Amino acid sequence: MNAKLDSGVTTRPVTRQTFDEVLVPTYAPANFVPVRASGLDVWDQEGKHYLDFTSGIAVCSLGHANPQLTDALTAQLKTVWHLSNAYTNEPVLRLGLALTEATFADRAFFCNSGAEANEAALKLARKYAHGKFGPHKSRIVSCLSSFHGRTLFTVSVGGQAKYTEGFEPLPPEINHIKYNDIESARAAITDDVACVIVEPIQGEGGVIPGDIEFLKTLRELCDKTGALLIFDEVQSGVGRTGALYDYMNVGVTPDILTSAKALGNGFPIGAMLTTNEIAQYFNVGAHGTTYGGNPLASTVALNVIETINQPAFLARVKEASARIFANLEKLAADYPQLFGKVRGKGLLIGLPMAEGYKGKAKDYTKTAEKLGLMLLVAGPDVIRLAPALIVSDAQIADADRIMRQAADEFLAAA
Ligand SMILES: *Cc1c(COP(=O)(O)O)cnc(C)c1O
Repeated sequence: MNAKLDSGVTTRPVTRQTFDEVLVPTYAPANFVPVRASGLDVWDQEGKHYLDFTSGIAVCSLGHANPQLTDALTAQLKTVWHLSNAYTNEPVLRLGLALTEATFADRAFFCNSGAEANEAALKLARKYAHGKFGPHKSRIVSCLSSFHGRTLFTVSVGGQAKYTEGFEPLPPEINHIKYNDIESARAAITDDVACVIVEPIQGEGGVIPGDIEFLKTLRELCDKTGALLIFDEVQSGVGRTGALYDYMNVGVTPDILTSAKALGNGFPIGAMLTTNEIAQYFNVGAHGTTYGGNPLASTVALNVIETINQPAFLARVKEASARIFANLEKLAADYPQLFGKVRGKGLLIGLPMAEGYKGKAKDYTKTAEKLGLMLLVAGPDVIRLAPALIVSDAQIADADRIMRQAADEFLAAA
């Protein structure tokens, strides 16, 4: 027997302080420890209740401890957990069918996170470009202030220097252009480009929707030069913007699409979707992962896709979005000294701090948190709302009430 387990480590008391003692300090979590959650309700160790407008960063879109997902996962847990990719399994086959039938794609590759999905996409794009055109076609074009994950490759492709500092040397042949800047795109996307990767709406970079003209121009330039267009829909995908994937809203079809976050509602899974023509360049042995597409993750994702990809469900996302936008526009009008113009799409919404409160988004969310509302930030200047897609009108009204109270308290303390 393991002596540590015998000593009662599974039941001994732990606190927020324990984080500072035993975990690598890559995060600065809130000063409470959530212990239980259901739908958009969260309770901490003291029994305090919070209304969750973060959904674990656009992950738990069907709510915490969703009963249908819990039942499906429990049934699969009693059947088979893991086989490795030396064998296939029924849930991953069904998930592959569901995703390819619902999108432009003919083929899916499964992994365990957004970074891994992008890593697969970038590697596939290189393999395709080298195979079809030759090794000179290897440059990658990405956007400033984009976010694509934290592996060394994806963080280098991402457009935020603060995340690569100290990790040099970085992979070469990556260029960053200004987001939504058509002229920079024209100058950068030349014949030696293997792929262009873009978020149709930038999430971490401040909740900035892509201009349709910009995204269309990327598509045209990729077609002209033979570069592949990759849409990173890790945050925008799986119903978040009111369509299954945001490319469907903007009317620009990528060659490769990456998905993760909400795909598993909290159970880790990532997916890379592409066409038959491109997929063949990932031949046997070219890429892989131990857990990718395992029966547990695939079962959850299949149920998520089946639930979200329904016209009535997606229509409700748009309706909830319109309500929150209306509330936030009124809030910003009532507190012009505090907030700027609300932006975003569907239930991925950014509320920038006004000029005089730049850098204070986190402080505002901490005030809201004390009053029982969990909010996100997107950079230092933008409050981000990403509630579960099942948010009710009553919860939208509660959030509005708390955000107003937080604005008053924040101004009184400032
Ligand atoms: C969160 C995110 C990622 C990284 O996903 P992980 O699962 O954290 O690796 C990549 N791209 C975008 C757009 C994201 O929002």
